[in-house]
Amino acid sequence: MQLYCESLTGYERLKTKEVKVGDLLLGNFHSIRVQTMTTTDTMDTLATVEQSIRCIEAGAELIRITAPSKNDAENLLHIKNELRKRGYHTPLVADIHFTPNAAEIAARIVEKVRVNPGNYVDKKKFELIEYSDADYAEEIDRIRDRFTPLIKICKEYGTAMRIGTNHGSLSDRIMSRYGDTPMGMVESAMEFLRIARNESYHNIVLSMKSSNPQVMVQAYRLLVKTMFDEFSGCYPLHLGVTEAGDGEDGRIKSAVGIGALLEDGLGDTIRVSLTEDPELEIPVCKDLVKRYGPPTPQRGDLIDTQTVVLTNDDKEKKILISGEGAVLASPKGGGREGALPYDPFSYQRRESFEVGNIGGKHVPVVIADMSKIDKISHKHLQSVGYTYDEATDKWNISDAAADYIFTGNQLLNFALPGTLKVIVYPETWVRAEDKAKYFPIFQDSGYVGSEIKSDQMNFVMIDCFNEGADPFTYIDQLRNDPTVVLCLSSTNKTAMQSVRRMYVELMNRGIKNPVINITDSNWQTADEHLIHYATETGALFLEGMGDGICLGMIKKSYDQLAASYQQMNASGRNYTNNLTIEQFINNTSFGILQATRTRISKTEYISCPSCGRTLFDLQETTAKIRSRTNHLKGVKIAIMGCIVNGPGEMADADFGYVGSGPGKITLYRGKEIVKRNVNSEVAVDELIGLLKESEAWIEPG
Ligand code: SF4
Repeated sequence: MQLYCESLTGYERLKTKEVKVGDLLLGNFHSIRVQTMTTTDTMDTLATVEQSIRCIEAGAELIRITAPSKNDAENLLHIKNELRKRGYHTPLVADIHFTPNAAEIAARIVEKVRVNPGNYVDKKKFELIEYSDADYAEEIDRIRDRFTPLIKICKEYGTAMRIGTNHGSLSDRIMSRYGDTPMGMVESAMEFLRIARNESYHNIVLSMKSSNPQVMVQAYRLLVKTMFDEFSGCYPLHLGVTEAGDGEDGRIKSAVGIGALLEDGLGDTIRVSLTEDPELEIPVCKDLVKRYGPPTPQRGDLIDTQTVVLTNDDKEKKILISGEGAVLASPKGGGREGALPYDPFSYQRRESFEVGNIGGKHVPVVIADMSKIDKISHKHLQSVGYTYDEATDKWNISDAAADYIFTGNQLLNFALPGTLKVIVYPETWVRAEDKAKYFPIFQDSGYVGSEIKSDQMNFVMIDCFNEGADPFTYIDQLRNDPTVVLCLSSTNKTAMQSVRRMYVELMNRGIKNPVINITDSNWQTADEHLIHYATETGALFLEGMGDGICLGMIKKSYDQLAASYQQMNASGRNYTNNLTIEQFINNTSFGILQATRTRISKTEYISCPSCGRTLFDLQETTAKIRSRTNHLKGVKIAIMGCIVNGPGEMADADFGYVGSGPGKITLYRGKEIVKRNVNSEVAVDELIGLLKESEAWIEPG
């Protein structure tokens, strides 16, 4: 174990305990299960059955259904019977919040129950109460009394359980002692887990969800470490980012959080929460997990002739995909051993010096690769945020305008927008007249011996895994050259880990040049590229690694993408409509920076996926709110079907729009209720009014 996972420098899946959910096995190296949750009213048996079938047909291996009352819990039997009658045997999960009675009914019917430890016993008053040790112990006893009957039922019926902590709904007890921190989330689950373990009940899965991928990733890592410290093992992990939103942003946010943990080898089942129909979540889940190879490898299997072997470790099965990559203790090229120079349980940006507007305290820059366009003109720059007005001869620059473009060997034959700079190969840079606008990019060791160099800024590409080269030695030659911006990428299969390994080396050697994270993709569809970029690059930014982003794709993939656009548009999803590939990549770059909270360029929507508790049309309302507020850069708006995930989730948001009864909405400013039970007909207007009162509003355009 390296702190919280098997390897920080290669892909090794963490061994977890095996859990049985009906006939489905979870954990212990079984394939990463994909799941979703219905959005229908649980009392509407037919609608719930039909939606479940659509999800199962799409590939869902577990279906979660909300059970807010005893009646809903009882109706799970009808839903289950109807599904079985129609030949669907997928395990069902009851989602429980405030009603232990409903949980105790559901646990006798379905294969798994999910309890939220923040809501299960505690009736939160959202007050900061001082708890003495005796008060605290008394509360734990109260939980034990109320939670133990459910454990006994689960044991008797063979029902599995998820202890599902949510960042926004921690108990007053946890909040008073830990605050809404990753450690508070972990302790919230551990209180329940310890009670279950004392009853010798182990059919348990755990989750630590938050709408903030940084918090979520830190909480899962801390949970693993805490479990290993306390009982030298780990229960299976259900990964998810809550209230991720919809479209491209929802997918990026989910992939950043879930993908970062999957790259760590953590995660036994995943759910991507989108404010869309639940069956649309499944292809995103599949894109996330298919990167990790075939399911359930067995000891001795040779999965990939080059890279994947299983060890013969007697104590634990491990999947090693680090055969060709560096390992922390003995990196290729002589990297140094040593303690990890950063804290994976909290966020700190790696220290770097400034080169131009890159590094130091500057937000990460975006570099757009335009080298595949033959003759770049004014109109092409529109795809990366610059719109040219011929009449006034002026550029309009959007909030998501790339800072640099890479053009390969092209010099542009028109005047560039003021803020935009161009990166070209050295032989072309020599011919550029405006050396304040053009900068050269070198291939690794070629820089040191080159006689052609900018005295302001030089980009140096380093392949962190390059057969026959020795990156660890020549980074020393660039050490603290005040003009050098490093561009790190890897051709290794475990590219993120190789680049992370290089960052460790830079930190250990005190090398503070700014770094651009370069991620190439050789996938085919836009969805696959999106997941790939968000997973690999997002994982680095979440660890404070990166002063810039540059996403690219191989030529074959570039050509294939046009075809996949057509396919996606045909499937009814509209977020790729009319985008060029450069626009798609530019949006993705800014989306990743927004999701990792490293550069805010647009409004953020924290919208729940909706479920049987939802009292209004979330998709339609989210679209309506988005259409009126999407020009409010940096404002975070939560749109929630109900309050189960608590105003705590909105601690992360500036404003909240939350269902509070049929046709009724409650509006929040931060955690504070500003207007209760507003008629839903006028609630969006009231929200805009609240934004105006709070001076968070600017007129569009
Ligand atoms: S916040 Fe949304 S998804 Fe969560 S329980 Fe409420 S309505 Fe359902």
